[in-house]
Amino acid sequence: MTVPRYRRILIKLSGEALLGEVEYGISATTLSRIADELSEVRALGVEVAVVIGGGNIFRGAGLAAAGMDRVSADHMGMLATVMNALALQDALERRGVFSRVMSAIKINQVCEDYIRRRAVRHLEKGRIVIFAAGTGNPFFTTDSAASLRAVEIGAELLLKGTKVDGVYSADPVRDPTARRYEQLTYDEVLSRRLEVMDATAIVLCRDQGMRIMVFDMTQPGMVVQAAQGMPVGTVVDPGPSSASAEEEQP
Ligand code: UDP
Repeated sequence: MTVPRYRRILIKLSGEALLGEVEYGISATTLSRIADELSEVRALGVEVAVVIGGGNIFRGAGLAAAGMDRVSADHMGMLATVMNALALQDALERRGVFSRVMSAIKINQVCEDYIRRRAVRHLEKGRIVIFAAGTGNPFFTTDSAASLRAVEIGAELLLKGTKVDGVYSADPVRDPTARRYEQLTYDEVLSRRLEVMDATAIVLCRDQGMRIMVFDMTQPGMVVQAAQGMPVGTVVDPGPSSASAEEEQP
């Protein structure tokens, strides 16, 4: 039997990860695939927490750009993450996997409030915990919520699912010369403005030594491999950096 490398991980899924073939909302096919993969990781014996975004429904910045008050817009964004969380919980429970949604804003009739000790207890009991409503505060993102919750629950790895297989020196879709990094330090991500997570999230991970792995969420099987410690994406950790060493070579 394969022994997983990690005991407890947190996976950040953006709302876009649920889009699949649809342009808005949730693709049932994609949701099913993600639920299957999370169930597989859980079956390995890894404790799994998830922070889910809301960009497939509403983003505060987009609504504010259209003229809405930013705080109200962010409240709508946070509520969008609750909807995604409920959809994921339903998909998991249809597979017989117990899960709990814990929200950073109080919506007691819909899901539990986020209470750290209770979240940890759910994880210890083998439930997948889905953290909804980001940090509960406007002007933040679910990336920041992911780094905060990962640190709070003592996760060993923050897995950030994206549409490409790691962090590149430029957008690999537009620039064929873009290089993929195997490993980066937090400060390299910040100083090079690499698109990993927003700066607030990276700074918290840096200050608390939270290891991040950026991987391709669109490829089936990647979450399971990442949870087993396989190098399926770019690792961001305290270093030493492989990116600087590579660039110094003639
Ligand atoms: N949001 C917020 N505070 C938070 C997390 C999220 O106000 O702590 C709002 C914000 O408007 C954001 C939206 O919720 O645009 C959806 O989150 P995010 O954009 O991070 O989702 P993702 O891009 O991961 O789908």
